[in-house]
Amino acid sequence: MMQLSIPLNFIGTLYREIKQSLVDIESLFVILEQPAEVVDRPDAKPLAIHEATVRFENVSFHYDPEREILKGVTFEVPAGKTVAIVGPSGAGKSTISRLLFRFYDVSGGRILIDGQDIRDVTQTSLRAAIGMVPQDTVLFNDTVAYNIRYGRPSATEDEVIEAAANAQIADFIERLPKRYDTEVGERGLKLSGGEKQRVAIARTILKAPPILMLDEATSALDTHTEREIQEALDRVSRNRTTLVIAHRLSTVVAADEILVLADGVVAERGRHDDLLAADGLYASMWARQRAADEARERLAETEAAD
Ligand code: ADP
Ligand code: MG
Repeated sequence: MMQLSIPLNFIGTLYREIKQSLVDIESLFVILEQPAEVVDRPDAKPLAIHEATVRFENVSFHYDPEREILKGVTFEVPAGKTVAIVGPSGAGKSTISRLLFRFYDVSGGRILIDGQDIRDVTQTSLRAAIGMVPQDTVLFNDTVAYNIRYGRPSATEDEVIEAAANAQIADFIERLPKRYDTEVGERGLKLSGGEKQRVAIARTILKAPPILMLDEATSALDTHTEREIQEALDRVSRNRTTLVIAHRLSTVVAADEILVLADGVVAERGRHDDLLAADGLYASMWARQRAADEARERLAETEAAD
């Protein structure tokens, strides 16, 4: 009996472990959205980061050969600078972030990091160098602590807590039933979009990558949450090479360069003031957002007065 129960127990544990890791791999693939075609070249070398300059050179891309999404996009994010991408929904902004992370290979042109074509380096080293905060974070079916520590598994408990504080999520976690040991994800506590995004920011703060790729949350968030997330993002992107898909005006105003993506090309580029002066697409997007913000503020004032 004894002899039998021990191995069975062991198998039970092993089974649970394997099952958990399968779930993790599944969620990981959801996070990475990784198609099977992207493979390391046999002679792939680890990416060597010197100053972390990112360059897109005449990049074209299609998911479906019938429809070109990017048609010759060129830009550079100099080391430590922030470049913002704006443009209408469906313009190809998130596609640019997927290409940088190499979920897909470009159809034409190339993407360079410190002069190295990302197709020539190992995917592991590429992804280790980039901190990606996606628009819609998928959490692992595990604890809050696990989800944050994933950014750097060797991090201490204090470091996890510090990262959570910097991501403006620590107070929220303190109020959870089991604090950092609370299970989250599909099978645990469901977090809101803003909370999940802050967990992803905490994870990225722990990872401290040389390159940041942020897909900002939309205006679906309330103003208070939005401001907290903005602060967290500002903190993590300071002095890091940052490519940000921007929905909020504050990010755009401060960016070193703004790219306006429309119909698969960079339609306008420059700093905020230059683009306003040019009185084109950006200026009209800006005016529209301002009007929407003012309308929302007036509505909030009316409601407060009632
Ligand atoms: P944005 O982030 O600017 O809103 P995306 O980069 O997500 O736009 O998408 C650009 C275009 O590519 C859209 O028309 C979208 O429908 C299409 N697209 C996005 N992902 C896929 C995919 N996996 N397969 C086919 N088409 C896609
Ligand atoms: Mg998008």
